[in-house]
Amino acid sequence: MIESASIHIGELYSRLQEARILLVDDEPILMDVLQAFLEEKGYKHFTKVADSRNALAALNDELPDVLLLDLKMPHVDGFEILEAVRASKLLEQLPVIVLTSSSDAETKLRALELGATDFLAKPVDSSELALRLRNTLTVKAYQDRLTYYDALTQLPNRRLFIDRLEWLLKKARRDGQRLAILNIGLDRFKQINDSLGPGVGDLILKEVAARLVAIVREIDVVSCVGADELWRDLARLGGDEFSVLLPGVNPRKSAAFVAGRIQDALAQKIAVDGNEIFISASIGIAVYPEDGDETDRLIKNAGAATAFAKSRGRGNSQFYSKEINEHAEYRLELEAALRRAIERQEFELYYQPKIDARTGMIEGCESLIRWTGSERGVVYPDEFIPVAEDTGLIVAMGEWVIQEACRQQVAWRDQGVGDFAISINVAGQQFGQENLHRVILAAMDAASMNPGRLNLEITESMLMGNAEGFIRKLHEIRKSGPTFSIDDFGTGYSSLNYLKRFPISELKIDRSFIIDIPEDRDVGAIVRAIIAMAHSLELTVVAEGVEEVGQLEYLKSLHCDLIQGYYYSKPLPADAFAAYAAASSKALAAHS
Ligand code: C2E
Ligand code: CA
Ligand code: CA
Repeated sequence: MIESASIHIGELYSRLQEARILLVDDEPILMDVLQAFLEEKGYKHFTKVADSRNALAALNDELPDVLLLDLKMPHVDGFEILEAVRASKLLEQLPVIVLTSSSDAETKLRALELGATDFLAKPVDSSELALRLRNTLTVKAYQDRLTYYDALTQLPNRRLFIDRLEWLLKKARRDGQRLAILNIGLDRFKQINDSLGPGVGDLILKEVAARLVAIVREIDVVSCVGADELWRDLARLGGDEFSVLLPGVNPRKSAAFVAGRIQDALAQKIAVDGNEIFISASIGIAVYPEDGDETDRLIKNAGAATAFAKSRGRGNSQFYSKEINEHAEYRLELEAALRRAIERQEFELYYQPKIDARTGMIEGCESLIRWTGSERGVVYPDEFIPVAEDTGLIVAMGEWVIQEACRQQVAWRDQGVGDFAISINVAGQQFGQENLHRVILAAMDAASMNPGRLNLEITESMLMGNAEGFIRKLHEIRKSGPTFSIDDFGTGYSSLNYLKRFPISELKIDRSFIIDIPEDRDVGAIVRAIIAMAHSLELTVVAEGVEEVGQLEYLKSLHCDLIQGYYYSKPLPADAFAAYAAASSKALAAHS
């Protein structure tokens, strides 16, 4: 069950009494009377300022929910304070109820022009006061909701987060305290969203928010900070990005602790629509003052630490450091270079044969992208695919791969090299694209290719949750010829039985299993079971990353259908692949 993190409007009303009320009046007795009366009505938090010269400092310090402001005061009068409040970025939204003994319309008009929210005539009628205060706070709570809270998760949004950060920084500077920012980015969320659809994505975000709230509440009990305080220090910054602010003396220690708790909490499976989904987060941490002494820099550095954590695989937490800064710069450069590379078509496809385990014949090949046009020599996809996915460049790149692979398949067929099935790797984001099917049809058409010769490799994670739209897309594409393979099988969490719902013809066992056979008997048993079950579902089984003859013999004994790996050949440029194919068929002919 998805639990919601939302605060309901009803709950909001009951929270009104938690409002922090700041009173500014040069008559302390009057303030005491107002406080006593409001306490009777359940309000709890008051700050009273009798010397109006201290009013602004108190306002900036307390960030109250409402200000009750006398107009006529010595030194600094209410008008001046009102003006300063409306000119301040932190306070401009603060509701101000003006207390005025003057029935003079001009005074009221001036106060209104300066941004007063409401008026109360002096001497103050107590029931009138209670009513006005309640209304003002209700309106404020409602407006705050719209302005400062994220509609989906009900968490504070980026705007409130930045306000809070600025305020906490100010306090930290003054009190010589420190402050940590945890930037939490969900791993592969884009892919989940693309393959499962935004509806499921939203449910996951809500569940993540609920878990973060639970953790924050738990820390809250430990650290004895008011629940309200920490609640506001947790925010959804947008998309799959969340943040927690941790003020304190030793924020590194608490940040490491909280990051650990978050990782644990997110590691628990999420059940959505009867499916189990596993997510994880990459957490970047920046600490004031050493990693930056103002808002922008701290946010930027926490984000850079998150990106770095992501680049090291899922579920990592990472403190900001100088090296990360260099890494962030490198990523930016890489992104720019990648954009140019797409324009200039600096990519090349390499091809790795898939060999029939029984006959030794080439059955097909997998195309693997290389960036060859850069000054760096050949750049491997592990280095640039993640950047391409983050930036959306993967879509344009993927389109080129589809076209190029189709063109090459037909060229080899026509040159007599062989009519091999050709596999391409398709990223989740490409399925998020409306026109993927059309792009595929157009590419096959332009090349005059037999559609049955195209194979699309998709990963387990793209199937998770089995979104209707995604399944429909697979079936539509399958109907027009191309087949599907499940790539990296065994690294995700899908059961084989689950695969029945998808139009899949082939399963590729991930290299991480192959490495350990035949020595590791447990892994051997898993591989044996995968092959047997795949065959019962009439799927062809490919072993990936076969490097040694021992592995090959073992896989043959388990009736694995196809072998891919360095044992036969590394991925090769097109002409080298053609030469390999020619040599291979010659050798086979000589043998028979
Ligand atoms: P993948 O789809 O799992 O591809 C197999 C990877 O294993 C390839 O790495 C291949 O060179 C490598 N490999 C094959 N046999 C062996 C072996 O015997 N030993 C070892 N150690 N490695 C072997 P590569 O080419 O670096 O590609 C890495 C990943 O990048 C691919 O993993 C795939 O996920 C992604 N990728 C490659 N080309 C494309 C593409 O055109 N589009 C997309 N979206 N992703 C691609
Ligand atoms: Ca693949
Ligand atoms: Ca693979």
